[in-house]
Amino acid sequence: MQSILKTLLLFLTMIYFNNVSKIYKDAVALDDVTLTIAAGEFVSVVGVSGSGKTTLAKMILADENPTNGTVFFESTNVHKLKNKDLTKLRRRIGVVFQDFKLLQNKTAYENIAFAMEAVSKTDEEIASDVPHVLELVDLSHRIFHFPNQMSGGEQQRLAIARAIINQPELIIADEPTGNLDQINTHEIVQILKKINGLGTTVILATHDRAIIDLVGKRVVTMENGKVIRDTKHAK
Ligand code: ADP
Ligand code: MG
Repeated sequence: MQSILKTLLLFLTMIYFNNVSKIYKDAVALDDVTLTIAAGEFVSVVGVSGSGKTTLAKMILADENPTNGTVFFESTNVHKLKNKDLTKLRRRIGVVFQDFKLLQNKTAYENIAFAMEAVSKTDEEIASDVPHVLELVDLSHRIFHFPNQMSGGEQQRLAIARAIINQPELIIADEPTGNLDQINTHEIVQILKKINGLGTTVILATHDRAIIDLVGKRVVTMENGKVIRDTKHAK
C-alpha cells in the first residue's frame, strides 16, 4: 500500500528540490531546500528581498547550477540535461518578470506571434490563437498597440499572454506585480488564478505579503535561503 502511495505521489510531483543549496561568493542564496510541488498547484513563494526566491526560480529553469542537491522536473534532473533537452524543458515553462520584458518595437499581436514563431507555429495558428489569448487576459482592445501605448497592468497582462501562448505546464511569475498599483496587482493575481484553474501549475514569487492573501493558496515562506514555513492556505 505504501509503495502505491509513493508511486502516486511521484506521478503527481512536478518539481522536487532535494536538499538544494546555492552558495555564491558572498551569499548563501539557497540553504538546504527540500520542496515538492505537484502538478496543478498554485504556490506563492514569499520572503523579503534577498531571501532566495529568484534563485529558487532559476534552479527550476537550470539558469544556475546548485552547489549541492538535485532539482527534478517530473523525475528529470534538470541540471543533467544537455542543450537540446534543456531547450525543450524551458519551453514547457512560461516565465513572467517584474519588468515585463516585452519587445518594444512590436505590437501586442507581434509580441505573442514572435513567441509562437520560435516554436515553428504557422501563420494560420498564430492568427487564430493570438486573439484568444488576448481575450483571456482581457486585452482584446490592445491587439495592435505597442507596449509604450499601454499601462503597466496591460503590459504585464500581455507578458502573461505571451508566457502561456505555447501552453506551458508551469508558469513562474517572479515579482510580477512589483511595478504595479493595487488595482492592477489584483487583476494580475486573478488572471494567474484563472490560468491555474485551467490546469497550469503556477509559482508566484513575491515580497508582498498582501498578495498571498489575495491568492489564498499554498504559501512557501523563505528567509535567508531557507524554507521556514510551508502552509496549505494563506487564510
Ligand atoms: P530574492 O529573489 O528573494 O530577492 P535572490 O534569490 O535574488 O533573492 O538572492 C538571494 C541571495 O543571493 C541574495 O543575498 C543575493 O544578493 C544573492 N545572489 C543572487 N544572485 C547572485 C549572483 N548571481 N551572484 C552573487 N550573489 C547573488
Ligand atoms: Mg527576486
